[in-house]
Amino acid sequence: MSYVDDVLAKVIAKNPSEPEFHQAVTEVFDSIRPLIEANEEFYKKEAILERITEPERMIKFRVPWVDDKGQVQVNMGIRVQFNSAIGPYKGGLRFHPSVNQGIIKFLGFEQVFKNSLTGLPIGGGKGGSDFDPKGKSDREVMAFCQSFMTELYKHINADRDVPAGDIGVGGREIGYLFGQYKRITNKYEGVLTGKGLTYGGSLARTEATGYGVIYILEELLKDHGMDMAGKTVCVSGAGNVAIYAIEKAHQLGAKVVTCSDSTGWVYDPEGIDVAALKEIKEVKRARLTEYKKYRPNSEYHEGRGVWQIKCDLACPCATQNEVFTEDAKMLVENGCIALAEGANMPTTLEATKYLQEHGVHFIPGKASNAGGVAVSALEMSQNSERLSWTFEDVDSRLQNIMINIYHNISDAAKRYDKEGDYVAGANLAGFEKVLDAMLAQGIC
Ligand code: NDP
Repeated sequence: MSYVDDVLAKVIAKNPSEPEFHQAVTEVFDSIRPLIEANEEFYKKEAILERITEPERMIKFRVPWVDDKGQVQVNMGIRVQFNSAIGPYKGGLRFHPSVNQGIIKFLGFEQVFKNSLTGLPIGGGKGGSDFDPKGKSDREVMAFCQSFMTELYKHINADRDVPAGDIGVGGREIGYLFGQYKRITNKYEGVLTGKGLTYGGSLARTEATGYGVIYILEELLKDHGMDMAGKTVCVSGAGNVAIYAIEKAHQLGAKVVTCSDSTGWVYDPEGIDVAALKEIKEVKRARLTEYKKYRPNSEYHEGRGVWQIKCDLACPCATQNEVFTEDAKMLVENGCIALAEGANMPTTLEATKYLQEHGVHFIPGKASNAGGVAVSALEMSQNSERLSWTFEDVDSRLQNIMINIYHNISDAAKRYDKEGDYVAGANLAGFEKVLDAMLAQGIC
């Protein structure tokens, strides 16, 4: 058995009940196989694959808090500090009932390579809780966030580990978490990103992930002699990433006709009304059923179904494993040109393969959604120099970062005789830098 297959089998056996982690490791290992096999004995002796799949540290903790009825509730909190070879741990916090160790490990593992692709000095981490902010009062969310930070603060600081938001963690949660960190440590430092603009946040951070998805898609199209103008786009999700991907696609002359949330999806043939979507999701925190009130000609459907709509470009921006092989078949039949993942690992391995084999340009999340963490790193830089840059400055840096990521992954694919395989390109380019730093730092 080859070294890659041997370690993959060991990772699966050693981490049972973590299917998402297995999926993420399988994808990366398949891509980096040519690099490892070119010098297999050396990497085996260095145990590089064993080291890269074992988090440097995992912290799991109890989060007790009191609800509005006076009842004590208990949730699980977790932070995985996966790899600090190229910088302090950086990655979001996810608050969602589905959160478990395997999901946070898959996200942390992906984050290592994504952060490397940004070209910025940030290592990989991820964290979260099975707490569900949906339906909770602001006071309950604050009580939970304060309790969560009362443990987490021991393990993070501006130079060690800098968490950000993810599903269920937006501006409100980051504010409560930051307030508690400051209160306990008596330090005003850039320990979290995604902060409000009045207390150290960066302009364009809110928009960064969604805008970045469209910037990289635009560069891919340009590289293939096309552009965004006039293209029809299907987006899934209706959260932070989806909203700003839709906004930027419209600004560049494309028309986004779908979005979705965890209960249903919208088809608006005239193009999604971003102002209405922001009001429903960012202000009212309501369901997408509300959308029809703003746009009577749109359709609302229960369940999932976005990918049956004919489109040129697809951007899954909700959650992991939301594009299956049946969806990939519909996208291909409908003539989809390219798919850029806004969410982390929204496409199953089989669906990814199907799309690639049928000529759909496929950009994996670790490249296409890296704009969020890139601007988070720019927020860290602004906090360190105690300055705030303009929206235009941050946005143009973001755009350059996304353009560079595209060419970096495209060139890496070519170097390994896999031209056009952006999954392999992203994994190889992300891995090369981390590998180099790990080898330089010795056995640690
Ligand atoms: P949000 O919580 O803002 O939005 C998530 C959206 O996806 C919501 O519309 C939500 O529906 C929907 N959703 C969540 N879980 C499910 C599910 N199990 N089934 C169907 N729909 C679901 O999160 P973000 O927009 O921040 O994150 C979306 C994805 O992008 C995640 O994979 C995240 O890891 C990734 N990402 C986010 C970054 C960021 O900067 N925010 C950076 C890089 C990646 P509902 O409204 O009903 O809750």
